Amino acid sequence: MRMLPPGSTIGILGGGQLGRMLAIAAAQLGYRTHVLAPESESVAAQTASSFTRADYHSRIVLDELAASCDVVTYEFENIALDPVEYLAGKVAVHPAPVALGIAQDRANEKQFVNDLGGRTAPWRKVTTRAELDEALAAIGTPAILKTLRLGYDGKGQVRLTSADEADAAWDAIGGRPAVLEGHVAFEHEFSIILARGIDGTMTSYPPPKNEHVDGILARSTLPAPAPVAAQWTEAAALAGRIADKLGYVGVLACEFFVGAEGPVFNEMAPRVHNSGHWTIEGAVTSQFENHVRAICGLPLGDTALTAPKVEMENLIGEAANRWAEILTEPGAHLHLYGKRAVRAGRKMGHVTRIAPIIS
Ligand code: AMP
Repeated sequence: MRMLPPGSTIGILGGGQLGRMLAIAAAQLGYRTHVLAPESESVAAQTASSFTRADYHSRIVLDELAASCDVVTYEFENIALDPVEYLAGKVAVHPAPVALGIAQDRANEKQFVNDLGGRTAPWRKVTTRAELDEALAAIGTPAILKTLRLGYDGKGQVRLTSADEADAAWDAIGGRPAVLEGHVAFEHEFSIILARGIDGTMTSYPPPKNEHVDGILARSTLPAPAPVAAQWTEAAALAGRIADKLGYVGVLACEFFVGAEGPVFNEMAPRVHNSGHWTIEGAVTSQFENHVRAICGLPLGDTALTAPKVEMENLIGEAANRWAEILTEPGAHLHLYGKRAVRAGRKMGHVTRIAPIIS
């Protein structure tokens, strides 16, 4: 494909903070952005060139978007597949809907990764209460029951410490199709954020160590400790095989546990990712810019660190009220997402701290 020249328009499905930061990166390179999202207060719309407030299923709206954009991307993976496939018949859509289809179903995703030689937690697909018993017998406890679809940030997940908790766990996820996963006794969690261009060129960032609180990312730190560094090459190679197999174009995030025998793949997101927000100031080219570069057919940018130490802290709920104090910290870069209402567990912003100020 030819390079889309600056001045072209990028359609973004989804109106949250990832779309917001994509639109900022696109604007920096001279592109226009058109956000399509159903919510009245889209924080991506605040930074985009234009905004259509509509749900994703109107063919009229999708036709208009396809006609007004040179390429379309998406900023969240729980968008229905159908409108994305429809758009792909009319305009270039990156990443291709096939990646979305796999990432939206935990069983498909794990099977796909196992088929590529990737290590996952032991898992079984569970569609009935009886299958949960069979899966518990096969996998044992502790284990985690996760809904097949629409889970993120630890939502739609129940931990089981004994098979006696099967009824309660099944009720807790509403008896929906799920996977049962064995609990991985991991030392650390990390992610591989890679970008793959239209010509198949790939690059990836040094992996951050990620710490979660209540299932939500709290902090990413670089450089990651030695146990993560030791598993980096194997994890990055697997992420590369995933991207190649999918003919992927754009930024892909793969989350891993540091397992006793090597990296254990947890899940992937076919989009820019919270554990890559540090790249805005902490890498030569941000994940957002590299996503824009990839989907527009441009050469990918350098992923090297800009400082010996980088840390990203998510500002969740009330934590964002510390904004004035954060601004007084040398080396701290504050990002607020423009969300009006502070709610517990809501990602309101993040702060990236660049060495040498981290003691
Ligand atoms: P997920 O939504 O799958 O990313 O899960 C959210 C968080 O729950 C992960 O980042 C881990 O901290 C934890 N977790 C998920 N699956 C497992 C597992 N199989 N073993 C241990 N911890 C897990």
